[in-house]
Amino acid sequence: MTTTAAPATAPFRFFDVHVVRALRVSTSVVRITFGGDRLDELASGGRDQRFKLFLPQPHQARPVFHDTGDGWYTAWRAQDPAERPVMRSYTIREQRHQPREFDVDFALHGAGHDGNPGGGPASRWAAAARPGGRLTVLAPAVEDNGGVDFRPPPGTDWILLTGDETALPAIAGILAWLSPGTRAKVWIEIAHEDDRQPLPTFADADITWLVRDGADAAHHGPDAASLGPVPAALRAAELPEGTPYSWIAGEAGTVKAVRRHLVRERGIDRRAVKFTGYWRRGATEEDLIAELTAGTAPASDED
Ligand SMILES: Cc1cc2nc3c(=O)[nH]c(=O)nc-3n(C[C@H](O)[C@H](O)[C@H](O)COP(=O)(O)OP(=O)(O)OC[C@H]3O[C@@H](n4cnc5c(N)ncnc54)[C@H](O)[C@@H]3O)c2cc1C
Repeated sequence: MTTTAAPATAPFRFFDVHVVRALRVSTSVVRITFGGDRLDELASGGRDQRFKLFLPQPHQARPVFHDTGDGWYTAWRAQDPAERPVMRSYTIREQRHQPREFDVDFALHGAGHDGNPGGGPASRWAAAARPGGRLTVLAPAVEDNGGVDFRPPPGTDWILLTGDETALPAIAGILAWLSPGTRAKVWIEIAHEDDRQPLPTFADADITWLVRDGADAAHHGPDAASLGPVPAALRAAELPEGTPYSWIAGEAGTVKAVRRHLVRERGIDRRAVKFTGYWRRGATEEDLIAELTAGTAPASDED
């Protein structure tokens, strides 16, 4: 099967992009296709390629930056919060070269979606996006870059993937990348039956879709029993023999429960479990950045 060397750290670059089209692919997902002048310089590494997007404030036509050079983060933090762009993490769902475009799948939440009055700036922006809308992205300029986490080491026998709608773009990219015949077991939590997507792959993939019955992911309570259907399904599953490499993403509490199960109850080597909380119930991305900055974020190797 395909394996890779250690993660590379490589340059990311700012790109000004515009919405080419917005397509509602399912009840919970809108696919935004972006175009831009310099997109020949953008190079997605595929798989779970992450990048940052910067949204204009509601009263702005485009994001306002004071500095997009090496000192951008300090300059961005120093900006008036009412003026500075809203920064969010997303995944490149697909990059195309003819024409030069890339797609991002936004999981919609809140803002009237599923009756939830909450929501966040990125979800609201995506739900209202129209051709011509402008934003800025910080995206990779070389394919082998540090924004790709899915890197199974040599000796991996099979792949385990779990996630929700926010991780579906990454899972699609990983499945598309796997070598023919690679064994993969996949659990994906979705809100609605129609949130299933075709996931083309040459891998020998066994994909289980777990529908939340229309309830928004944020409606789950804090107790372990209500972490969503993925931990329960995994607990009941028979796993293949051999050495797995696991990639887990989605809501942070669910990610933690899945990782604990794999490491503690299944005895899987923690170094072969790549896990990322893509969002946390009750916390905005600003809250998560503030925790990281203050050093109060939960330890990443805690299991
Ligand atoms: C590396 C990485 C890659 C990601 N890729 C994608 C991607 O390709 N597509 C995608 O849709 N998301 C992706 N996410 C998740 C996305 O960044 C978060 O969902 C983000 O919080 C959305 O921003 P927002 O402005 O809509 O909400 P925020 O302002 O950040 O949060 C507002 C409220 O909504 C809640 N919330 C946030 N997301 C959800 C959700 N999905 N369901 C229910 N409640 C939610 C928060 O807990 C908070 O209470 C990724 C995250 C990371 C770290």
